[in-house]
Amino acid sequence: MLLLILAGLILAVQPALAADAGPVCGVYGFDPKSAAFKGKTPERIAEALSSWGVNAVFGGYKDPLLRKALRGRGIRVFAELTAFAGERHWKTRPESRPVSEVGEPLAKVKWYAAVCPNQTWLRLDIKKRAVSLVRKQEVDGVWLDFIRYPGHWEVPEPHLEQTCFCPVCLREFRKETGVAVPEELTAREKARWILSDHKERWTAFKTASIAGLVSEVADAVHAADPAALVGYFAVPWERSEKRGAVLEILGQDHRLMGRAADVVSPMAYHALLRRPASWITDASMAVKADSGKPVWPIIFVGDAEHPLGPGELRAAADAAWQGGSGGLILFDLGKLAEAGRLGELPALFSACLD
Ligand SMILES: [Zn+2]
Repeated sequence: MLLLILAGLILAVQPALAADAGPVCGVYGFDPKSAAFKGKTPERIAEALSSWGVNAVFGGYKDPLLRKALRGRGIRVFAELTAFAGERHWKTRPESRPVSEVGEPLAKVKWYAAVCPNQTWLRLDIKKRAVSLVRKQEVDGVWLDFIRYPGHWEVPEPHLEQTCFCPVCLREFRKETGVAVPEELTAREKARWILSDHKERWTAFKTASIAGLVSEVADAVHAADPAALVGYFAVPWERSEKRGAVLEILGQDHRLMGRAADVVSPMAYHALLRRPASWITDASMAVKADSGKPVWPIIFVGDAEHPLGPGELRAAADAAWQGGSGGLILFDLGKLAEAGRLGELPALFSACLD
């Protein structure tokens, strides 16, 4: 009997249950101040979202009245939390700018300024922000974004380079593996020394560092609210693809990261990568198998440079549902609204309207 009671207690606080509670139809980039919702009361906003089949939003958590109205309609409120990106960090903490394999400060790629993932102050700050989102903004979950080593991966032919060889990373590498990089070498030579002689340990160090933060954030969030979910946005490359770049370059090992996360959201942006919609199914299934957790893929809805017609977007959504997904997230709501295409939502989210 005691065992049964204990089992019941464990199940009651197990967030994975909430992650499995029926299909999730989510929209990323929900902004109650945008033109689509301007002048509407919280109740009317919640009503509109619900009529489209939306039952999860990323954003809109700052207004308590809106949160209440959304929940009243069964819409869960999640927050995106950027981990290792942001040029503001380069300005306020220059030591956070990653060091490349040629010993130089890493260049910005378009809008993307990657940040070193081993800065202690930043890791603490990420955990603090995650807990604050759950405690103060009462969100139903936090999704870690840019939870990886540097890499502008979301293009057909990404430029991939090894990072980060900053003093903090080399110190942590030594602490975790016992491998001491010869001090007399230049920054460029240190990178070469590691990559030629200790590549496997370097990769293991990188993936453990990234997965370690997911685990720390999950522990902190679940301590603050056992029902809150912790998810992350996953780079949807298979382990062997691009010579193992998802592990070796980006440091994302979904097998390790999935242990701590409640849900994983593969960024199945087929339009950006110029892949067929059917690839979304394969990518979702691969991440699901690796992580062992429910997957809610996030798909790109198209833009001027990568247009997707209504039929193509529908095919992408169908492919996402076919991958054994527990949910679907659209990236993003703002783009669909600007294009006057909100009327397409019920067809994409029919799984949540039945
Ligand atoms: Zn570093």
